[in-house]
Formats: sequence, structure tokens, C-alpha cells
Amino acid sequence: MSNASIKNITTTAVRAGINTDKHHGAVVAPIYLSSTYSLKGFNEKREFDYSRTGNPTRAIFAQAIADLEQGSVGIVTSTGMSSVHLICQLLSVEDLVVIPHDCYGGSFRLFTHLAKRGLFKLIVVDQNDQSALAQALSKKPKLVLLESPSNPLLRLIDIEEVTKACHNVGALVAVDNTFLSPALQQPLTLGADIVFHSTTKYINGHSDVVGGVLVTKEQALGEELAWWANCIGITGSAFDSFLALRGLKTLPIRMKQHQENAEKVAVFLKNHPAIDVVYYPGFEDHLGHDIAKKQQAGFGAMLSFDVKGGVEAVKKLFANLALFTLAQSLGGVESLISHPTTMTHAGMEEAARIEAGITDSLVRISVGIEDSADILADLAYGLEQSQR
Ligand code: PLP
Repeated sequence: MSNASIKNITTTAVRAGINTDKHHGAVVAPIYLSSTYSLKGFNEKREFDYSRTGNPTRAIFAQAIADLEQGSVGIVTSTGMSSVHLICQLLSVEDLVVIPHDCYGGSFRLFTHLAKRGLFKLIVVDQNDQSALAQALSKKPKLVLLESPSNPLLRLIDIEEVTKACHNVGALVAVDNTFLSPALQQPLTLGADIVFHSTTKYINGHSDVVGGVLVTKEQALGEELAWWANCIGITGSAFDSFLALRGLKTLPIRMKQHQENAEKVAVFLKNHPAIDVVYYPGFEDHLGHDIAKKQQAGFGAMLSFDVKGGVEAVKKLFANLALFTLAQSLGGVESLISHPTTMTHAGMEEAARIEAGITDSLVRISVGIEDSADILADLAYGLEQSQR
């Protein structure tokens, strides 16, 4: 955004890309599907020459996210996983990487399998275990991955504190901010070097795009990663960038409604006899609640819970819900429900999953923006049926 005095996140999101069309004055940023761009003349390039390298629609979306995250360079990638993979381009065989034991299953699978092929060394650690984390950092990693809140147990990491410890040993810190979006947390302002998202989730918000975005604090690191994104060919498409930019405009107001509903759902579940534990950072007794309060602008709209009666009760719950859709993803306007063991975290080996606390009776929900009374009524019926 050109006017640096505009800081409000809702305004920044709504205004993203507006009045950028210099040719026709289109209010909304146009979609440029052309794969290639003419040169002005011999060896005289325009701003864009080939859409893998740069695309006007994608550039506007990238800048909008960089503005919201308060970073330097934004890089839009084809998926959230390709943003994670892009970060791996910074690593060589002697480098050590530290990842959390309970990160998103796809990130866990990528790092563990690349490490198995000898592309870098890897330590998987419970980042809430201070001494285990200190021990891992004493081995001087090149990169530390953080995910806060984590998927699916909503564990919190003090990003500022851990980043300082990582920087003390010369490690770069990359934070997966998918669960909160820049509307609720801005890791670069807490010291992190890289923040990334699966834009498939809250940023697009309508479950009709698969995409990713990465933002760096420093210009030079951003340029290095943008070079790699073009080199390996993982930049996002113009059409997906257009849709995600359109979704982004309502991100802050969607998040308000998501959170309002999620809080009601969390309280309802906590008092329900069919539930053993509810994982929701907004509860004072949730591990890391104070960290969430300190570094987040809200508690988000993701929560998990253990259903009494194990996997059979989970199956009955799913079969008796009308409004919650049983599906992998999260962050869309519609409420979704999932079973991490067989879905999002199926890529993790059983031992690692158990170690991370992901039980067979664990259910994760992404609370949508439907009317909260309808959401609660649906859950009430499903949970009652789950115990029969
Ligand atoms: N990070 C988190 C926290 C996720 O939940 C996901 C997908 O579910 C990803 C990264 C990967 O994103 P994508 O599915 O867009 O590749």
C-alpha cells in the first residue's frame, strides 16, 4: 500500500490492490492470465516478462500479504506445502533443521522424508520442553520451524522468546501462521525471519483455492527465496492470486465472526458430558493461554476435543452432523470437522503421532461463520447420538 500512514489491518485488507490499474482505472485489481509479456524493444524488458517469474495479479496479492505481515518481500506459491519446500532451498547437507513434533502432518512428512534422503539433518523436538529445545539449539541449527498455535492440539510457543534463543545460535526462524492469519498474529513483528501460510485456509477463506504465501523480514532473504521460487517453478497462478486477493479483503471481519462463534462452541463443548478435553487457547487453563494472550490479537477459531467412547463415538458423531462437513481443510466460511489420525496427520507414523498427543478419539473443528445457534444445535445433536 502506497500510503504508509494507513496501518489498520481491516483497512489494509479491504484496500489491497485497489486503484492499481493505471490503464483503465479498474477499481479491483485485474486478473492477468497472459503467460508472457512483450518486450518494449530489443533487450528492453518491461516490469514483467514471463508469468512464472512475475505476474501483475500475483505481485499485488504478494504485496498485500507482505503489508499485513509487516515484512519486506512476499512470495506467492502454488500451495502451502510449496512455501514450506521453498524454505528448504536455503539448506545444504551439513545444515541442521529443528521442527516441532506436533507440526502440520504435511510439513512433518516433508522434513522427515527430505532428511531421510540426506538433504539436511533434522531434529524433531517438543518445543514446549525447554531443556529439549535448548539441547537442540546447542547443536547450532540453520533453521528452526515454529507453528503456533499448533495443528491440531493448539499448543502455543512464545515466538519472541524462542526466536531470540534461535538467533543467539545463528538460526533462522520460520513460522507457520496458517491457523491465525496476519489478522490475529504477525510473527515478523515478534522477531521471526520468515512467516508462511497455506492461503488455502483463512486468507482465501472460501475453500476454493489451494495456495501458499511466504513473507520475509529482510529484503535480501526475500530476494534469494524469490529467485528459488522462479528457479524451481512453484509460483502461484494468476487466477488463484486473484481469488485469494478477493478473499483477503474480508479476512479481518471474517476472523471476528469465526472467533465469536468459536468461543461459544468451546464453552459449549467444555460443559458437555460427551467430551473429555477441549483444546482451545482461549481457556485460562489451556497450556500456553498467557502466551496466546500476549502474542495474538485473538484466540482463533480452531479447536480440538477428545470424545468419550473412542473412535466408535467419533464415527457416530460424524454421521449425525448436518452442518459440519467432514473434510480435511480449515479456515473457510463453512464449518468443517476432521479426524486428525486418519486425515490431516495420516502422513505421520503412529509412534510420532502418539508422541505428539494425537489420539484416535481426537476431533478437530474449524468453526465457520454460520449462525452460532445453528452450529451449537448441530453439535448438540451429534454429540448426543455419539454416546448411544
Ligand atoms: N500448514 C498448515 C498449518 C496446514 O494446516 C496446511 C494444510 O492443511 C499446510 C501448512 C499446507 O498447506 P496446503 O495444503 O495449502 O499445501
